[in-house]
Amino acid sequence: MTDELPPEETLDPADWEALRALGHRMVDDSLDWLRDVRERPVWQPIPDAVRESFRSPAPRTPAAPEAIYREFTERVLPYPMGNVHPRFWGWVIGTGTPLGALADMLAATMNPNCGGADHSGTLVEHQVLDWLKELLGVPMEASGLLVSGGSMANLVGLTVARNVAGGADIRKTGLAGAPGRLVMYASTETHSSVRKAAELLGLGTDGLRLIPVDEEFAVDVAALEHAVAADRAAGLTPVCVIGNAGTVNTGAFDDLDRLADVCSRERLWFHVDGAFGALAALVPEYRGRLEVLARADSVAFDLHKWMYIPYEAGCVLVRHPKEHHDSFAVAPGYLARARGGLAAATVWPSDYGVELSRGFKALKVWMSLQEHGAERYGRLIAQNIAQARYLAALVDAEPELERMAPVPLNIVCFRYVGGGGDLDELNRELLIRLHESGIAVPSSVTLHERSGIRVSITNHRSRRDDFDLLVRETLRLGRELVGGA
Ligand SMILES: *Cc1c(COP(=O)(O)O)cnc(C)c1O
Repeated sequence: MTDELPPEETLDPADWEALRALGHRMVDDSLDWLRDVRERPVWQPIPDAVRESFRSPAPRTPAAPEAIYREFTERVLPYPMGNVHPRFWGWVIGTGTPLGALADMLAATMNPNCGGADHSGTLVEHQVLDWLKELLGVPMEASGLLVSGGSMANLVGLTVARNVAGGADIRKTGLAGAPGRLVMYASTETHSSVRKAAELLGLGTDGLRLIPVDEEFAVDVAALEHAVAADRAAGLTPVCVIGNAGTVNTGAFDDLDRLADVCSRERLWFHVDGAFGALAALVPEYRGRLEVLARADSVAFDLHKWMYIPYEAGCVLVRHPKEHHDSFAVAPGYLARARGGLAAATVWPSDYGVELSRGFKALKVWMSLQEHGAERYGRLIAQNIAQARYLAALVDAEPELERMAPVPLNIVCFRYVGGGGDLDELNRELLIRLHESGIAVPSSVTLHERSGIRVSITNHRSRRDDFDLLVRETLRLGRELVGGA
């Protein structure tokens, strides 16, 4: 009988020693690549031939790992996003760290599914969550979850908000069981992921009231209170207020203490989107302002932005563990908990969020927090804030540059105004030239219907002279554009 069975295969290497040699080379090359990042352009356009090379058919037969690695070094590695570079300041994108990258390799080696069960992967995640609560001043009894990023963290927090405020059993009835139309409140400067969450949760964009901001880009709290009162009078059901700890455009803080007061008076859920700003709690100067995080019902923040953890890693903390659990937990037979063994009834992360299967993203956070310690993270975040103030001062000293917004945190918005004509168009072109020259990668911003350049610093490799260079090159390119026009 057995002679008729085909030989069995595995995906393990036939030659472990050959893969070991390749693995060592990969590690060496990776560390060299990170060490020498400053010598390369921040970004470079992908040549057409390279772009075209990604259109080949699906592979059907095996290839040698050495050949695949060569392809990676020739076609993939040379055209990165650039966010590991010291002069990358686009959107809000973190740098990553060498040990973080190695940690991801270790996590992939162990390859646990951190959706649940009793193993070291879930233990590490629980410890990371406890550390983050302690460092951000969120009560230790809060529940939490590591997620892919701020978008997912907002979705998870706002799902609990909706389910609690919906009164009825919304998980069962859907919105049809809610006591009137549900509404959430946030400023016009709020990140688009909150809008996505409102849409996914069935409230629709009409169910997310966008409240105007003041000249500091912070929410107009009185206008928010009026909106709540008007909605109640019209028979709608206000659910929650989303406060910003660092808005994406300018790094503005809403008056979170007043918002917390409004929420406790009006019995509304208080969710804070602190994607990057919440981490400023590690900086003594900002700690007092962020003590209010202890009053939030839920807090969303990223670790891949201002904790410089490699992508992806975000976190949501919820001050009401039972409500958090009851918003997501399901108990089908195939996920039954046992008295002991691997399936023991420990806290299963999948009961606190959308995803069942989950990677071991906790490991890179656990190792990184130990490598640097919270105090050094605080110093690096403070350094980025100081660099933003330094850049703002450089901009303010140049008559050809105009600052577009206050700099309360790590974001500087400005534009070149050294010529006439369409300044929006001039600055859009200037930004493209900064990217294509490989000098620096800021991103764009539109404030009060005017376009400009936005430098957002969540980068542990940037130095003051990088900002000197940015200003020098912006002036050069601006003059070139005005002269050529
Ligand atoms: C980046 C950001 C988000 C979304 O986070 P992702 O990690 O990109 O999903 C939400 N809110 C703010 C203020 C952000 O800056």
